[in-house]
Amino acid sequence: MDQHLIDEIIERNDIVDVINSYIPLKKTGSNFKARCPFHDEKTASFVVSPKKQIYKCFGCGKGGNVITYVQDFEKISFPEALKKLAARAGITVQQSMQSKGKDSKRDLIFKIYDLTTGYFYKNLVEHGSSALEYLAERKITDETIKKFKLGFALNSYGGLRNYLLKNDINEKILASTGLFTSNNSDLFRERIMFPIHSSSGKVVAFGGRKLHESQSGGKYVNSPTTEIYTKGNELYGLFDTKYTISKKDYVLICEGYTDFLRLYENGYTNSVASLGTALTDSQISVLSRFTENIFMLYDGDGSGRKAAVRAAGKILGKGCNVKIIGLPEAEDPDSYIRNNGAASMQKMIDEAKPLAEFLKDDEVIGVDKKGKLSVLFDILNEIDDEVAQELLTQDIAETFGLSGHAVSSKIRKKRRTFKKEPEITEVPKMEQFTEERDIILLIINNQSLYKKVAQEIDSSYFLTGKYRKIYEIISEQIENMDNIPALISKIDDESIRNLLTDLSMSEPPTQTIDDAIITLKTRKFHLKLKAINEKIIQDPTNRELFAKKSELKKEILKINRKVVRKTLY
Ligand code: ATP
Ligand code: MN
Repeated sequence: MDQHLIDEIIERNDIVDVINSYIPLKKTGSNFKARCPFHDEKTASFVVSPKKQIYKCFGCGKGGNVITYVQDFEKISFPEALKKLAARAGITVQQSMQSKGKDSKRDLIFKIYDLTTGYFYKNLVEHGSSALEYLAERKITDETIKKFKLGFALNSYGGLRNYLLKNDINEKILASTGLFTSNNSDLFRERIMFPIHSSSGKVVAFGGRKLHESQSGGKYVNSPTTEIYTKGNELYGLFDTKYTISKKDYVLICEGYTDFLRLYENGYTNSVASLGTALTDSQISVLSRFTENIFMLYDGDGSGRKAAVRAAGKILGKGCNVKIIGLPEAEDPDSYIRNNGAASMQKMIDEAKPLAEFLKDDEVIGVDKKGKLSVLFDILNEIDDEVAQELLTQDIAETFGLSGHAVSSKIRKKRRTFKKEPEITEVPKMEQFTEERDIILLIINNQSLYKKVAQEIDSSYFLTGKYRKIYEIISEQIENMDNIPALISKIDDESIRNLLTDLSMSEPPTQTIDDAIITLKTRKFHLKLKAINEKIIQDPTNRELFAKKSELKKEILKINRKVVRKTLY
């Protein structure tokens, strides 16, 4: 996307107006305050600066510009947020002809799904007495039916088709909607319909459950993959539960539509259903935008438990946390809550176990200890992420009373090695290095200081990774430093964005730029010196090392005599 357009969108959307349309802001001094929309809190630590056009939460650390706010609050992508804000400011976003044509076909399919949802709903209410009876028997309330737009597909070959044609839908597009069979008859017949919404709330597919056991076909029939729906990418319910998931910071994943609705009705409004038992990597990625804490709440039978274990392995591999809830063998979340009540469900959630422990205690899947370990070793070998692999190794070792070495010997794959950090001889403690922060603060407040800094040091003098990164950004973007909101949108890494907004909202330090530079330089040489001293102890006859040491001392002397006395010993 064109940077000028992004800048214009930021400029034409006042951050106070935009945020105030989502949450109430209160003026305090020159800033505005609110309770943070991104974490649970009682006092207001979320601050919006109209002057700087950025926001920052002093509780959870989230910060950014008007675009990141819309992105984070609505949980939508950068282009989606841009589009929204462009529309809000009356800016037209030009699209290339090709994508325009494609978009309009997708838009038409979205429209058809919307019409179809209304059609199924109307059928249920007006002609679906047997379906309504069925839903009532299953204790699904009218409120739930309305909220999740459940519907009914009549036992008819052309009902939906005729309805769409009557609503000016061109016959030619029907074949690509996935709503019809190859001989043009309605795909869903005599089924309870569950619309599947994308995470932004559009209906993109349906699941249809048969009404009578005797009916032909599977218990559920699902929409095929279309231009607007990829199987295994969506999560049932997410569009409605994403805010709660992110606020409570955990999610319950169940298997089915009815499980989800039962959970929702009972106050578990931070759930989703994976639809079918295999949780996919892309579903996990979507969820991890809202929380990293995942509870597997699958059916209690062997296949549900096995699927939960497999899913847990994938979740760990993606760097998220997972616990598994073991329902009794004959129950799913729907039946469990109906038979035992919501409080008992809460107890099950509280007793959820990590992967290894769940498997160790399991008596339903029906494998012995050796079999359980082999399942775990397989999962371990599937995981690429080294940290996740290490954590699971420890977990298996502790749970099964094995040595860490015995478990890691089962890892077949060669481990990837970490990238080396550039020449850092000591792990620096954050608070020791206020100078790194100070230098950056000074430059942010007075960009003309950058030149001076750049003449003396480069980013390798910053030992704290995140300040080094910020300094690198400053070096690349020095001409844009007077427009922090625009700069924020060029930074992909959220933690760096948060740090930059934090710095932009902070008061400039009292120390001078010269002092801060000297400290950084001295420190770097000091660390080098220390490393050489260590080498000399190991290899006391090495003349080369002594030569290096004396050269270093000379350099340090050049910097500042006063500091040198402290440094040399
Ligand atoms: P119900 O409570 O209506 O019997 P359920 O949700 O308990 O349904 P399960 O058999 O436990 O059904 O299956 C869990 C989920 O897996 C279903 O909700 C559905 O999303 C999916 N599923 C099950 N059977 C099929 C099928 N034959 N075709 C497609 N998806 C299916
Ligand atoms: Mn079930």
